Amino acid sequence: MESHYKSYIQNKKPAGSIFFAKPEGCTITAYQSGKVLFQGKTAESEADQWQTGQQKTIKPKAEKKRKQFALPDDLAGLSMIGSDEVGTGDYFGPITVVAAFVSSQQMEEVRKHGVKDSKLLNDTQIVTIAKKIIPHVPYSLLTLDNKKYNELKEQGMSQVKMKALLHNKALQHTINKIGGSHCDGILIDQFAPPGAYFSHLKGESKQVRKNVYFATKAESLHLSVAAASIIARYALLQEFEQLSEKAGMRLPKGAGNQVDEAAARLINRRGEDVLPQFAKVHFANTQKAKKLVKR
Ligand code: MG
Repeated sequence: MESHYKSYIQNKKPAGSIFFAKPEGCTITAYQSGKVLFQGKTAESEADQWQTGQQKTIKPKAEKKRKQFALPDDLAGLSMIGSDEVGTGDYFGPITVVAAFVSSQQMEEVRKHGVKDSKLLNDTQIVTIAKKIIPHVPYSLLTLDNKKYNELKEQGMSQVKMKALLHNKALQHTINKIGGSHCDGILIDQFAPPGAYFSHLKGESKQVRKNVYFATKAESLHLSVAAASIIARYALLQEFEQLSEKAGMRLPKGAGNQVDEAAARLINRRGEDVLPQFAKVHFANTQKAKKLVKR
């Protein structure tokens, strides 16, 4: 395919792509994953010639939706606000959500500080990098503490809705912070389909909707999401330290057996009533811990 389009190949290509070509009326991005993206007026006819019999054409409605949220070709180099959250799968501790702005001009510097996909970084690296970037990257951090989380859950709010509201608010704050700076768009590390995300915002007086994109593993697609993810994890680590101090014992992350045992120890020492200050009590860990206490 690359040789077929060789006279249209562009020098500048998006991150993760093998080639980027611009024949008449269409742009073609071929990714390392094997996926090839055809965009523009003649996209369909251009793509058709590569289609084998088994491949089905996308249905019109799905196609329209896909186009609406299709990521810009040159995403990695754009000035973006990225948002991500952590703590949602941990029994102990809050949820932290961060929206961070990284402009095209800042990328070099941010990368130099070691910002990359936070899943590739350990806690020590997270702390070091976060401290370096926090003074330079405009961001908003929101922390949903356990008490508030449990109240919302009690009222019947889903975790997805909580996340949607927090992302929307963090995005608003960051947009306000950067004022008139040029921003090409917003990239949310996807935790729900776009339609579901926006339906959770119904009733909110301020909704960030313009140029909003969604992608899973977005921290590997744009440095703003990577930075947001690092700051969110850093904040969560600090919260865990403070909570552990308050509990008088080290609170483990996650939701495994270790967590059941720690929760049982906490109940033994301080009583069941303190749990809502430290944990997301609707998790199954609560019942498991109570059983351990009874034994
Ligand atoms: Mg995420």
